[in-house]
Amino acid sequence: MKAAIVKSFDQPLVIEDIPKPTPGPGEIVVKIETSGLCHTDIHAAHGDWPIKPKLPLIPGHEGVGIVEEIGSGVTEVKEGDRVGIPWLGYACGCCEYCASGWETLCEKQLNTGYFLDGAYSEYVKANARYVGQVPQGVDPLDAAPLTCAGVTTYKAVRVSGAKSSDLVAVFGIGGLGHLALQYARIAGAEVVAVDLVEEKLKLAKALGATYTVNAKRSDPVEEIRKLGGADAAICVAVSPRAFEQAYKSLRRGGTLVFVALPADNTVQLPIFETVLNGVTVKGSIVGNRVDLAETFELHAAGRTKVEREVRKLEEVNEAFEEVESGKARARLVFDLR
Ligand code: NAD
Ligand code: ZN
Ligand code: ZN
Repeated sequence: MKAAIVKSFDQPLVIEDIPKPTPGPGEIVVKIETSGLCHTDIHAAHGDWPIKPKLPLIPGHEGVGIVEEIGSGVTEVKEGDRVGIPWLGYACGCCEYCASGWETLCEKQLNTGYFLDGAYSEYVKANARYVGQVPQGVDPLDAAPLTCAGVTTYKAVRVSGAKSSDLVAVFGIGGLGHLALQYARIAGAEVVAVDLVEEKLKLAKALGATYTVNAKRSDPVEEIRKLGGADAAICVAVSPRAFEQAYKSLRRGGTLVFVALPADNTVQLPIFETVLNGVTVKGSIVGNRVDLAETFELHAAGRTKVEREVRKLEEVNEAFEEVESGKARARLVFDLR
């Protein structure tokens, strides 16, 4: 089978023909149809984070395809089902986190496209318990971005506490951000979208943002404060500066949700203002299986729009460059059909 492989953190990915995996107990093999390019895959390929992925690595945690083979003991899915293979590839199922619906915090978790080979590949082996069923009628090209960008921002909006009278600031209108703003709208909030690229702000408007700020041309803190300040700010921009601006754009009692994971791992936030203004800062990591099912459900009901462009797996290095330079419109999806 064909796969895109990271062999070292300072070299481009290579396309190789490698043996197809076989399922062990509890595992399935999925024939990939579509595979989204999350900015996390770029961080993985560059070794950007304090904990490094395995090498060689097949990235990709937005894989969607058809279950082709079933290992012993699998009851969760059957051959022919269409599934999404998310970041949370495995969790122990019985620790305090798993038992309380926070399997995304499980200390024994294994992540797809990081510690496990992922979906930049014609076939992927996955743990049957952690894949998500894609509902009938959802286009696999949409299902791929929903498998990470969708569920992650659906969850981030929920943990932000956004409600109908709120103003929510979304910093970064990329793969994650263009969906974050839609979930904030579904929660009933008004949205102010912030990015550095005019095209992305146009897209934000089309998807329901009331206000937009180009942080290259004007100060988002000043602009959002003019609107009364944000009740919640969700930072999905790959830049510590955006986190600091998002913090400063909050009104008293506001909540800042950290979602992006820039290589530069530090932000400076003031203690005094956080205490006196009663600000909450939260980290939010993907979502659990119920969050994923709900993300698909909303899309099947026609309530979200996935902005994506199709690329060939062979174009993976050019696609990384498009995303890093901010040229990609929202999500890029590899079509392996
Ligand atoms: P992306 O590249 O598609 O989007 C990032 C957007 O931020 C782009 O539109 C870019 O123009 C914009 N941007 C960059 N600098 C900015 C600034 N200073 N101010 C405003 N906007 C700015 O990336 P993505 O796939 O949406 O991923 C975003 C981040 O989220 C990545 O770091 C990724 O690793 C992380 N991520 C986190 C989780 C999680 O569970 N917490 C899940 C998936 C991805
Ligand atoms: Zn992702
Ligand atoms: Zn666990």
